[in-house]
Amino acid sequence: MRYPIIIHPEEQLRKPCEPITVVTDELVQLLEDMYETMLAHDGIGIAAPQIGKNIQVAVVEVEEGELFELINPEIIEAKGSDIDVEGCLSIPHVYGTVERADEVTVRYYDREGVEMEVQAFGYLARAFQHEIDHLNGKLFIDTMIDRIPEEELEAYVEEHDHD
Ligand SMILES: [Zn+2]
Repeated sequence: MRYPIIIHPEEQLRKPCEPITVVTDELVQLLEDMYETMLAHDGIGIAAPQIGKNIQVAVVEVEEGELFELINPEIIEAKGSDIDVEGCLSIPHVYGTVERADEVTVRYYDREGVEMEVQAFGYLARAFQHEIDHLNGKLFIDTMIDRIPEEELEAYVEEHDHD
């Protein structure tokens, strides 16, 4: 099932999310629905508050086939820094540069309730930070350095060679 996306400046996007205490069948279904909703909007990540759920759950897929379903994710290590462009399904037509750590280690629970750790670099690390920010009520526009006009986006991305 596809959910409608909550659009900024809805208050829902600014609430810190509650941790999950037990992985239920409903939660697994929600992960699938979030993924379907993300794909339907050509996104590479989506967080539960973006579909109106105040819980610490996010889905990220930067490279096709490399899906991360994150339950109670937290960044346990962050290194380096990098400036690159971001957008957000909840903030249509706005793109801009944000400084993020270039490498992060994220601890989370998967859909089986198993504790996992993943080390990510570059754009995947960026996507994790963007989604985890959502779970704390933060949006990329809060720390955006420069807004990139939509018509210049393609040129910017080409110039900056995403990894
Ligand atoms: Zn977002």
